[in-house]
Amino acid sequence: MKIEGKSVFGGVAMGRLSIYKKNDQVVKRTKIDDAAAEIKRYEEATQKAKAQLATLYDKAMQEVGESNAAIFEVHQMMLDDLDYQEAITNMIQTQSVNAEYAVAVTGDNFSEMFAAMDDDYMKARAADVKDISNRVISVLQGVEETEIDSNEPVILVAEDLAPSETVQLDKSLLLSFVTRYGSTNSHTAILARTMNIPALIGVDYKEEMDGHFGIVDGFEGVLYVDPDEETIAKYRKKQEEEEEKARLLQELKGMPNVTKDGREIKLYANIGGVGDVPSVLQNDAAGIGLFRSEFLYLESDTFPTEEEQFNAYRSVVQTMAGKKVIIRTLDIGADKQVDYFNLAHEDNPAMGYRAIRICLEQPDIFKTQLRALYRASYYGNIAIMFPMIISVDEVKRIKGIVEEVKKELDEQNLEYGDVELGIMIETPAAVWMTEELGKEVDFFSIGTNDLTQYTLAIDRQNPRLDSFYDAHHPAVLRAIQMTIENGHKGGAWVGICGELGADTTLTETFLRMGVDELSVSPSRILAVRAAIRDCDLSK
Ligand code: PEP
Ligand code: MG
Repeated sequence: MKIEGKSVFGGVAMGRLSIYKKNDQVVKRTKIDDAAAEIKRYEEATQKAKAQLATLYDKAMQEVGESNAAIFEVHQMMLDDLDYQEAITNMIQTQSVNAEYAVAVTGDNFSEMFAAMDDDYMKARAADVKDISNRVISVLQGVEETEIDSNEPVILVAEDLAPSETVQLDKSLLLSFVTRYGSTNSHTAILARTMNIPALIGVDYKEEMDGHFGIVDGFEGVLYVDPDEETIAKYRKKQEEEEEKARLLQELKGMPNVTKDGREIKLYANIGGVGDVPSVLQNDAAGIGLFRSEFLYLESDTFPTEEEQFNAYRSVVQTMAGKKVIIRTLDIGADKQVDYFNLAHEDNPAMGYRAIRICLEQPDIFKTQLRALYRASYYGNIAIMFPMIISVDEVKRIKGIVEEVKKELDEQNLEYGDVELGIMIETPAAVWMTEELGKEVDFFSIGTNDLTQYTLAIDRQNPRLDSFYDAHHPAVLRAIQMTIENGHKGGAWVGICGELGADTTLTETFLRMGVDELSVSPSRILAVRAAIRDCDLSK
């Protein structure tokens, strides 16, 4: 069977389909007759939830260390909390309601109570109590855990995947993503590109396909289920051809990113975390042009501490051994939601309380990150850039906060290095202000994903608009040109770190515009290098 979808990243994957079951958790209130039996069900579910948490604790200990694993221990203790347990059993007994309902209501009540407390630690527990309650409800409903249910790599098939879910998946078990919803410009799509795996959206799959053999054609945007021998043979051949192409690109390793007429530019890689660094080195990037630091927050169940962030940043710069590492400060909000930030629901999250706006309003969060970044700068070549800038005033306020942080570090005799400061140009307002902004910072990095969204007034998350989302629109290209020209006038160097930077049909255009740097998914480095080396700007 052949199902048409839309590609978010090319390549061929073959393997078993694994349908990712989400916890939709519709909890209904039902009347029960035997309260004692219902309480027993609840108690058994709690035991099972604790066993799951113990397994998660062990896994996290091995993969991300004790400080990140500790949360699973806290969750186990919370499940044993007597007040919480009594509220549930009491409700089952006095109101004759089902355990799922009692757990859901108690979870909501406790969570609201914690959220209202005047203590940051307790506030943070609001999300945890919801989390543990959801876990117990899932066990009661017999829903599988939201993880890849396999020991061998699979093609993961899902309704949709949020970035917070994607980052928690075991990458070694992923051959490909296939989703029914989602958009080609979402962060989940970007993650697929970073992981260098083919991915499709808009695929109308059926639950019965779970476990069947499938082929993902990321070039044509097609999923084959139970393909015939001829199709399998065709794709085996295609896979071999791709491997051969990749092998040929490998020959470009160690070569400069220079055009035929001698113009050289920097080619850096985009990463989401420490785990992506090996592929940056394997693909021979000269540096990291965008480290989306918010993924550190997405992977965590609570605010990452200064020490945790410092360790992550230091590990990246040390591994990059003196090569430039541009770390973007927290860009949370829109599709990147984190429970423990307790952000209110917004009708227009892409234009909402996000990124630098959160940092300027909550300087404690911002300063913790800046301290970690500056401390890590002592160990390598760090540059910092700030997302979603719209005004010169914001940049001045940021610089003021940076100075405060440096002064505090000086007072504590904590050392730091020279750090270049830059901003992302991803709003039309910033583009229009580039002349002034260029005098304030060392560099610009053009975020074409958001710049396209805001220039064209097209929600990058909305799959219905994918065909309107035209990053080649002359308005977007003019905005890029203007940014490069004005940046240079003000003395700032200018790079592109949005997905468009990897579009080899535009490499020559960007070079002619005078771009200084391109930052792309690690898997695209060598292809872009090939495109640069093919250009002759003298013609
Ligand atoms: C962009 O907007 O182009 C960008 C690089 O940032 P993000 O995709 O993370 O919003
Ligand atoms: Mg952006």
